[in-house]
Amino acid sequence: MILTKFDIGQRVWAASTSGSPTRMVCPDCLGERVWACTLPNGEHINIECPTCNYGFDGSRGTVEGDYSYSADVHEGIVSKIAANTFDEEVNYTILESGRYFNESVVFSSEAEARACAASLASEIADRVRIQNIEHRARKRKDHPGSRVSYLRREVTNKRKEIERTLEHISNLQQQHPRMKIAEAK
Ligand SMILES: [Zn+2]
Repeated sequence: MILTKFDIGQRVWAASTSGSPTRMVCPDCLGERVWACTLPNGEHINIECPTCNYGFDGSRGTVEGDYSYSADVHEGIVSKIAANTFDEEVNYTILESGRYFNESVVFSSEAEARACAASLASEIADRVRIQNIEHRARKRKDHPGSRVSYLRREVTNKRKEIERTLEHISNLQQQHPRMKIAEAK
């Protein structure tokens, strides 16, 4: 026989957490949404920032940061108790919330539920922070060249290519002063 902490009809408080991603200013365009590039001939062009570009919306100037976790408390009446005789797990359905909660997070006072929710939220945040650090370290190890450094290199290569072409044109103009070279628009 399983003894349950609460009965049907009893008022309880249950702890839970919910996570949502924070948004942070894009580290590559600093929120400007474009990369301002100067060509060797002095021409300025703006390239849409590829780091914060999410398809149809174009560059947003922000990227998703780490998740933040809030501590939630649900107050209500126990409407159903489900006890599993195999692992002695007890779950309570709380009428007002329409959700069920494991006995370990259900309390007879709001203060206890609040303290539990707060510690759950900070536990998850710590775990995620460690996972993110490990993930980023692994990513750096696996892919020493990130997408952004790849794109930076691409832009540099294109600039060098343009530089070489302009130099070639100016050489041709010096060698053949009477030859007219159409300026690219
Ligand atoms: Zn950006």
